[in-house]
Amino acid sequence: MKQHLTILGATGSIGVSTLEVLRRHPECYEIHALTAHRNLLGLARQCVDFRPRLAVVPEAAQLDELARILRMLDPHCPTVLRAGEGALEEVASAPEVTTVMAAIVGAAGLASTLAAARSGKKILLANKESLVMSGPLMMQAVVQGGACLLPVDSEHNAIFQCWPKDEGGRSGVEKVLLTASGGPFLNTPLQDLVKVTPEQACQHPKWRMGKKISVDSATMMNKGLELIEACWLFGLPPEKVEIVIHPQSLIHSLVGFIDGSFLAQLGHTDMRIPIAHALAYPQRQSSGVPLLDLTVAGPLTFLPLERQRFPAVALAEQAMQAGGTAPALLNAANEVAVAAFLAGHLNFRAITDTIAQVLDQLPTQACTTLEEVMEADRRARHSAELILSGRN
Ligand code: NDP
Ligand code: MG
Repeated sequence: MKQHLTILGATGSIGVSTLEVLRRHPECYEIHALTAHRNLLGLARQCVDFRPRLAVVPEAAQLDELARILRMLDPHCPTVLRAGEGALEEVASAPEVTTVMAAIVGAAGLASTLAAARSGKKILLANKESLVMSGPLMMQAVVQGGACLLPVDSEHNAIFQCWPKDEGGRSGVEKVLLTASGGPFLNTPLQDLVKVTPEQACQHPKWRMGKKISVDSATMMNKGLELIEACWLFGLPPEKVEIVIHPQSLIHSLVGFIDGSFLAQLGHTDMRIPIAHALAYPQRQSSGVPLLDLTVAGPLTFLPLERQRFPAVALAEQAMQAGGTAPALLNAANEVAVAAFLAGHLNFRAITDTIAQVLDQLPTQACTTLEEVMEADRRARHSAELILSGRN
């Protein structure tokens, strides 16, 4: 039976890789909807190529321009155009949709991902920020909605592949080991970090990704967010999730057991692998990426995390320990600080300083509803913006 897919964030790095995998298996998938934000030409091209039933953008003001571009490229394209946050949630929860790729970046993806969870979809989760912000709420929506949450983030997909399928096996898990490449500044002298540019920060040594996650990888906030993501996905306390630097990024993560065994997943650094895995699960399908040739892959090395270089990890651990609104505050402050860094308004080291200040200023509160999560998100953005305006 064909899967009917909505791809939230189709024009991004994950969205494009997803479409590459789908192109290989036209007999298995039907595309219901594609969504984008600023890249209207990219979305229109995808509509011409893939003929989705619907294409969605977040703002009504973008519709005329999108319609004009689409008419110019293909006047006969049957795709219906929609706009607004409500339309994003609709295409994530429509009854005919079986599968939702959640690949919007940041908090902007929360409402639609939650809508997919509440309506019982198979969710391929790339948008880790939504789970970080609303862990208890999202996991409850998954259970109550009867959804199936499959990790696309390469580390979590690796853990999922090694994760015992039965209760008895799970009780034997001692810890999980999240691997981290170390990003572009693993060996940069600490005093030079204030001078690094957005271009340098986005030059990830191993992965080609969107700008926000590239900067998160450079500060290692990405690994902090992933630690929180792992706790929710696998029901683990933060002390059972360890981070290890693995510059080659060939082992995508490991599960350690009480009998002294590690299970690991290895593969090329290409997101089509976890995307193809999650799409086909519980089957397997080709991703277009060959198996690693281990005889030429070279040595695999591992180093401890240098905490002074990457203070973002401790901030994320503290936020996870604090619970309540703390992870949402952490995430929102990070989004504001990263945007300011990318715009050239903030130095690299000040990203984590800003987040630490926001967490100091705002008390953690209990939160059980989407409104409370969004309120924490708003307060943290406001506080981060005030801190940044004071710096200028
Ligand atoms: P990109 O920046 O490449 O793409 C983001 C997508 O979200 C684009 O389609 C963009 O549209 C859309 N978008 C951005 N802002 C909004 C908004 N306000 N409302 C609706 N849509 C919006 O990001 P990535 O593909 O790199 O990352 C996507 C998610 O996947 C992130 O959460 C990231 O952490 C996660 N992830 C990514 C990995 C990677 O290898 N790239 C690996 C693991 C996880 P447009 O381009 O049209 O503006
Ligand atoms: Mg990852």
